[in-house]
Amino acid sequence: MLRQEEVARLLDVDLLLERLERAFVELSAGRTSVPPRIAAFVPKRGLLAAMPGYVDGVLAAKLVALFPDHDPSHQALVAVFDAETGTPQAVMDGTHITAVRTGASSAVATRALAREDARVLAVLGAGVQGRSHLDAVRRVRDFREVRVASRTFEHAQALAQEADAVAVESFEKAARGADIVCCCTHASEPVLRREWLAPGTHVCSVGASQEGPELDRATVAAGLLCVESRVAFQPPPAGAFELQGLRPDDAVELGEVLAGTRPGRTSDDQLTVYKSMGHAVEDAAAAALVLELSSAGS
Ligand code: NDP
Repeated sequence: MLRQEEVARLLDVDLLLERLERAFVELSAGRTSVPPRIAAFVPKRGLLAAMPGYVDGVLAAKLVALFPDHDPSHQALVAVFDAETGTPQAVMDGTHITAVRTGASSAVATRALAREDARVLAVLGAGVQGRSHLDAVRRVRDFREVRVASRTFEHAQALAQEADAVAVESFEKAARGADIVCCCTHASEPVLRREWLAPGTHVCSVGASQEGPELDRATVAAGLLCVESRVAFQPPPAGAFELQGLRPDDAVELGEVLAGTRPGRTSDDQLTVYKSMGHAVEDAAAAALVLELSSAGS
């Protein structure tokens, strides 16, 4: 049994980036087993979803409760099983894993897709994911300016102070002139407009409101679209609102870009968009890393 403090102490984000890259490659190569996410719904309150997965020799399952009015809104457990024998090996906190693996996956996408000379980062949303993205995405590019905006300005100020960033008053002000924009809100209407974005910007979006899209259609359709898995094109709640009506084959999977089987960014002025829905392989990769570091006595 690994409690949240232990998971937080053990989970090394730089190592996690490497493990996630491998997991995404395995996923896109068809060497994983991940059934569609299922959930039990509590009327007007939230849901409890199950996310089992087998990837790269790791067999794990996450149970995640999503209760938007609770802080934190995502609370989870991850169970890891021996992939040779099926014997349970560990149960661990999944709340920290969910927070960290989501930002780390965006960092993997950013490393693969953003321009090398990206220097200005804008994070929209000052909650758990805003914090996670500020930590993870900074590891893959050398920024001279990092901005945070949120619906509630005081939240942006508090996070900016904690994370050595600058709070700005509006999403528009944060996004204009940024090289990388990470959308980390629970918004059900777009927080971003295509016309705010400079050529060559890289956008990450992890927002997963059950009611509507976080990104506007013009941004999603403007350049290279990248997803974890083409399951994201299914109707909500399995898929993303942003992707409805678009052709899955026109998008690339992150694992395809990492493996070099489909092209990533092809020019400096191309807009690239990573739309994340979260995937069980990310949890399995993170939980296996925690267990490995725990067993090694870290
Ligand atoms: P938090 O509750 O910690 O933060 C929510 C953020 O969204 C806050 O910054 C809040 O602003 C902002 N927000 C809420 N409603 C609106 C709105 N209507 N318009 C604009 N901003 C809004 O949540 P998390 O950071 O944990 O999660 C953020 C999103 O990411 C959620 O949609 C969640 O479901 C999703 N998520 C996706 C994952 C994935 O794998 N793709 C994994 C985990 C989460 P403020 O507080 O300033 O008012």
